[in-house]
Amino acid sequence: MNFAFLSDKHLHTLEKNEDSAMAWWMQIAFETSPETNAPIPRGIRVRALSCLANSQWELKVTEDDPDTWNIDSVHRAGVFADDCAALGFVSAIMLHIGMKIRELRALPHVPEARHPRFTKLEYLWEIVETRNQEMAREKQKRDQTVVKAPNAYVCALKGCGIEGTRKSALLRCAGKCPADVKPSYCSKECQKADWKKHKLICKPNAAAKDKPHVADAPAAKTKMTIGESIRTDGKEVRIEMPDIIGGSGTIPLVSKTMTPEFMKDVRDEVEKLLVTDADKRSEAN
Ligand SMILES: [Zn+2]
Ligand SMILES: [Zn+2]
Repeated sequence: MNFAFLSDKHLHTLEKNEDSAMAWWMQIAFETSPETNAPIPRGIRVRALSCLANSQWELKVTEDDPDTWNIDSVHRAGVFADDCAALGFVSAIMLHIGMKIRELRALPHVPEARHPRFTKLEYLWEIVETRNQEMAREKQKRDQTVVKAPNAYVCALKGCGIEGTRKSALLRCAGKCPADVKPSYCSKECQKADWKKHKLICKPNAAAKDKPHVADAPAAKTKMTIGESIRTDGKEVRIEMPDIIGGSGTIPLVSKTMTPEFMKDVRDEVEKLLVTDADKRSEAN
C-alpha cells in the first residue's frame, strides 16, 4: 500500500482543551456530517485519527520511562494509528507510536505489550516496516558515500562524531598534506585538538609553534552558552545521538543551525543521563 504523509502542524490545538477536542475528533473520525448526512471526507477523518492517536499517546505517561506507561493508553494510541493507516495515511506521530510500541514489545519485563491485541494492529506494523526499510536504504546509501571519502565526511578528531551531510559542510585542512589523507574538521577547535597528530603528516618538519591552516570558518569555543549554540553558515552536519526512550541504538540528529560543539554537548549530556539511569536500575535490582 502507498501511504500519503500527514503534517503534524494541527497537533498544537491539543493542549488548549483536550476533552472537547477529543469529542470533536471522535465525531469527525467516526460519524457522518450532521448537516448533510454525507460521509466526512477521508482526508479530514485521517487527520482526526492522527490527533486521537497523539492524544492517547500523550496520556500514556508522565515521564519517559516505558516501565511506567499506561498500557491501555498505549494500545488506544496504537488502534487510532492503525485505523488511520488502514485509510492509507501516515503521520510522524503514528510512526513514532508504532516504533515505540515495537520497542516496548521487545522488553522482556513488559509482557502486556505482547498481548495479541497489539499483534492485530496490522496496518500500523506495515507502516513501521515500510519506514524501517526506507531508513535502512537511506543509511546504506549514506554509508556508501562516506566509505568512498571518509576523510571528507567525518570530523577527523577521534571521538568527535560530527559528520557533514555534504563534503562542503566540514572544513578541510588547507595545509600541504596529501589529498588522499587530507582530514576535515567540524570546527577550528577540533582541528586544533588534532593538530599535534596531523602535523606529522601535514608538516613533517614542523616546529612546535606552527599553527594549523584551515579555510575560514566561524570560530568555535569549547564552552558554549545558549547564544553561541547557534550558527548561520547554512552547512548541514549530523551526529549520532543515543536513543533515549528505546535505550538502545542511536538516532541521527541533523542540524543546519546548531554549532557542532553544542551538538556534542547535547550528546554527551544524554549519554551521561543514560549512564546514571542504568546505574539507578542496577542499584534497584
Ligand atoms: Zn569535530
Ligand atoms: Zn593537513
